[in-house]
Amino acid sequence: MHLFEVYRGQWALTPDGDFKPDPWYIVAGTEIVDSGFGRPPQEFTVRQLPEGVVLPGLVNSHTHCELSWLKGRLTPHRGLMGMAREIAALREGVTLQEMTRAANDLLEAAYQRGTFFFNDICNDPQFIAALPSAPSFFGNRFFEILGFSPPKDKQRIAQAKQLLENDPNVLPTIHSAYGSSPEVMRFVREKARFTTMSLHLLEAPDEMSLPQETGEVYQFLCDIGQYRRYSELYHVNLLEYLFNMGMLSFKKLLMVHLLHARDSEIDFLSEHVPHNAWVLCQRSNEFLGYTRQNWQALLLSPMRMLIGTDSAATAPDLSVIDELAAIARLGVVPESTLLKAATWSAYEYLEIRSSRIPYFLFKGAEPNIASLAAAREIEVLRG
Ligand SMILES: [Zn+2]
Repeated sequence: MHLFEVYRGQWALTPDGDFKPDPWYIVAGTEIVDSGFGRPPQEFTVRQLPEGVVLPGLVNSHTHCELSWLKGRLTPHRGLMGMAREIAALREGVTLQEMTRAANDLLEAAYQRGTFFFNDICNDPQFIAALPSAPSFFGNRFFEILGFSPPKDKQRIAQAKQLLENDPNVLPTIHSAYGSSPEVMRFVREKARFTTMSLHLLEAPDEMSLPQETGEVYQFLCDIGQYRRYSELYHVNLLEYLFNMGMLSFKKLLMVHLLHARDSEIDFLSEHVPHNAWVLCQRSNEFLGYTRQNWQALLLSPMRMLIGTDSAATAPDLSVIDELAAIARLGVVPESTLLKAATWSAYEYLEIRSSRIPYFLFKGAEPNIASLAAAREIEVLRG
């Protein structure tokens, strides 16, 4: 029995998101303690891995595990507000057990395809408390405080306070400019200023029109009896409102989607919060029937791109390699940029320690995203 072993492979990903041949990994126990390319250190026993590509574990920077039971149940191309209405109609009567079982299945399936870390956004206190016991869950748990007007917002703040007392690892977060009230924002700002926050931003086409009390988002809030006019927001630019409320000033901020951000909005964010990250969930955007027009502006901006799937309500699974394959097919983002966004860029931004990162061998795969996503056999490398 040897304490250390060297695994030698055919191909692997570099921290720049490129592929190089002849990788080696020093394995101690269940951990990979060092790696490189070319000639490995001599003093260890060697295991030659089967042909294929070794990838470090992929990061899903945005999902909602609690909605896993909705997989395959929504109608495509109905837009964001159409989705919200459909979920509200289906939600009645679903048990915690059903939600947890569906989430476990999808998390396990994603892990078997190389995704090991999840930023989960949840607005059910029971579900978020149960999530750490899901065998394949590892990551951040955000409790989303939904409620645009009283008393709902105040009730949800009280719920969040209680949850945080029992479970200090939970990160409180707002849903969006239209999903959480100014009071919720002040609460989250106070609690989470030195941590990470996740914010849905410009997913709906006319989110920017909310301060003018026009458009689909405004209409939706009126329809569900949640609209209220706030002096902080009324006729103020939506991004300036978020900035004034301190919602763009967290240690780490994940701006999810930026799907309908125009040049002026991308310029504003690039200027005011260049260190923030934006999260791309392409398959979900497509399911809702939206087409992104701002690829180049975002890719040229200083903001870091990360990859998410959003929930199984609007995406077929929580697997990042399958998300990457869908984005790669569009041909607008270089593969190395995508692979970096799902690995080292995410580890750095989310402060994921290297000792926590598993490695996966995609057997028989060629060094490109389509071939990786088509691999039938994926092995977790363990000592
Ligand atoms: Zn989301």
